[in-house]
Amino acid sequence: MNEKILVIEDDSSIHNLLDITLTHHDYDVLKSKTLKEGVALFTLHRPALVLLDLGLPDGDGLDFIQMVRTIDATPIVVISARGQDKSKIQALDMGADDYLTKPFSTGELLARIRVSLRHQQRMSNLTEESILKVKELEIDIEKHIVKVQDELIKLTPIEFKLLTHLARHAGKVLVHRELIKEVWGEFYQENHSLRVFMANLRRKIERDPSNPQYILTEIGIGYKMSDE
Ligand code: CA
Repeated sequence: MNEKILVIEDDSSIHNLLDITLTHHDYDVLKSKTLKEGVALFTLHRPALVLLDLGLPDGDGLDFIQMVRTIDATPIVVISARGQDKSKIQALDMGADDYLTKPFSTGELLARIRVSLRHQQRMSNLTEESILKVKELEIDIEKHIVKVQDELIKLTPIEFKLLTHLARHAGKVLVHRELIKEVWGEFYQENHSLRVFMANLRRKIERDPSNPQYILTEIGIGYKMSDE
């Protein structure tokens, strides 16, 4: 059976483009141009993933994210205009998985969908797993052992915590605030040092730290572990 994707977008040209592209790639598309109808379709059909525009005629897409997150972890990919960094960060912080900035290519759209669906699957299997694998990176959570291409990597406890959190959420954009909270707790606010830790981590696990394959920077927003 095809996976269901719910599109909530009021811009007709993007709405139609998404509909045609997704249908062509064997997804079942549920369509809505309003928040209200989107909520109704979500509740009724429980899609595998939601593509969500934030500026809707009858409300804010952020309200949709909040509503869904009280129910479950269905992946939500936000569609946003260039320069809407603040609302993007807010959406990610509230539990959206990723975002697409208009205009985006078909390839980009399909890749984000694949990654988010995979992330969702990973999260639902995670409870039994004590070894996390992302491409050639392997983390043994219980034994605190990290390997890249079978080569042992020595990490400090904070680096280990950061890497584990990123790997656990591979495919999801993690905003600065969330990473800092996860590693240092609620009250630490220095972005600078997060950058330093990321640079050190990259030096240890990336073949070419200036062209990272694992830890990607989302400029002005946060970081994402790539599993593509
Ligand atoms: Ca809109």
